[in-house]
Amino acid sequence: METRNVIIIGGGPAGLSAALYTARAGLNPLVFAGSPPGGQLMLTTEVENFPGYEEIMGPDLIQTLRKQALRFGTEILDDNVKQIVSSSLPFTIKTSKTEYSTKSIIIATGAKALWLGLESETRLRGKGVSACATCDGFFFKDKIVAVVGGGDTAMEEAQTLSKFAKKVYLIHRKDSFRASIIMQARVKENPKIETIMNASIREVVGEQRVEGIKLEVGTSKIDARSLSVDGLFIAIGHKPDTEVFKDNVILDEKGYIVTSAVAAINIAKNIPHPDGHPLLEGGSMEGMFNYKYQSMTSISGIFAAGDCVDHTYRQAGTASGMGIAASLDAERWIATK
Ligand SMILES: Cc1cc2nc3c(=O)[nH]c(=O)nc-3n(C[C@H](O)[C@H](O)[C@H](O)COP(=O)(O)OP(=O)(O)OC[C@H]3O[C@@H](n4cnc5c(N)ncnc54)[C@H](O)[C@@H]3O)c2cc1C
Repeated sequence: METRNVIIIGGGPAGLSAALYTARAGLNPLVFAGSPPGGQLMLTTEVENFPGYEEIMGPDLIQTLRKQALRFGTEILDDNVKQIVSSSLPFTIKTSKTEYSTKSIIIATGAKALWLGLESETRLRGKGVSACATCDGFFFKDKIVAVVGGGDTAMEEAQTLSKFAKKVYLIHRKDSFRASIIMQARVKENPKIETIMNASIREVVGEQRVEGIKLEVGTSKIDARSLSVDGLFIAIGHKPDTEVFKDNVILDEKGYIVTSAVAAINIAKNIPHPDGHPLLEGGSMEGMFNYKYQSMTSISGIFAAGDCVDHTYRQAGTASGMGIAASLDAERWIATK
C-alpha cells in the first residue's frame, strides 16, 4: 500500500483550506470530504462575511474552495472515514471500501448544530430559521427575532442579535438559565431582550419565510402562545463530528478534539485535562502536545482544525484559518521525519 504524505478528513472550509496549502507545498493531499460532502455551508444561503467575497452562496463557496484545492493536485473522495486503524506511523485509515496509509492526518470533520427537530423548523432553515447570529444577524435589521436556549451561547446570540433587531425574545423551556451569572446579567440589562421562561416551541409559522412561532408555555405568566417574529435562532448546542476518533485522540468533555493550542489555554487556566493526564509539563508529553505545532492533537502527526476543535468562534473564516495553520504544521512536521 502506497504511503501518502497527508490525508485530510473533512471537506468543509477547514479541510479544503488545508488541502490547498498542502497541495501547493507539493504534498499531494488526499481529502475525504465526507458523504454528503461540503459540511455546514451546504445548509446555508448567502454568506457575506467570508473575506474576499462580498456575497456568495454557501454551496458555491465550497465549490470554489474545492476547485482551488484541485487545481494544485489535491485528490478528493466524497467518502467517510470509518476509523483510524493505526495511530502510530505510518497511520492507517479505513473507509467503507478500503484502507490507506499516511505519514500525517489532518482531522477537519466539523460539527453539527443541534436543532429542535420540528418539521416546520427544517422547512424554514435559511428562510428565517438559523443557528448562527454572527452569520445571519445582519439580515434582521429592525426586525423581531426569537432565540431558543438557556446557556451562554443563547445569551450571546441574543446579545448579538440585539445590535440589529428591534426586539429579541429569549425563550427557554426551563424556569432558570444555565448560563453564567454575568451573561444572564447582561441579558437582563438589555432593554431589547425579553425573556420567556418555561416555554417550548411547538411550530414555526410561515410558508416562504418565518412569520411567527407557536409556543407551549408552562408555568410562565406571560401569555405567549403565539408570537410574530421574522427570525428564529436555535442556540441549543453543537455536536462535533469526532465520534470516529474517540479511541485515537483526546477529546474534551463535549467531544471537541484537544489540540496543543487548546491544551496550552487549559494549562494557563489550570483546567485539568479531560483524560486526567498530568498536563503537559514543559510544553510536551513525550512528543504529544508539542507547542511548536499548535494544531497537533494528542498524537504526533495527527492534526486537527476547524469546528471539530473550536467551540468558540465557529465561522467559515476561522475554520479556514485553522485549516491553513494545520497544513503548515503538518508540512513542517513531515519535514522532520
Ligand atoms: C446554517 C448555517 C449557516 C452558517 N452561515 C455562516 C456564515 O454566513 N458565515 C460563516 O463564516 N460561517 C457560517 N456558518 C458556520 C460555518 O459553516 C462553519 O463554521 C464552518 O463550515 C466550519 O468549517 P469546518 O470545515 O470546520 O466544518 P464543516 O463545514 O462542518 O465541514 C466538515 C466536513 O467534514 C466531513 N466529515 C464529517 N465526518 C467525516 C468523516 N468521518 N469522514 C470524512 N468526512 C467527514 C463533512 O462531510 C464535511 O465535509 C454557518 C453554519 C450553519 C450551520
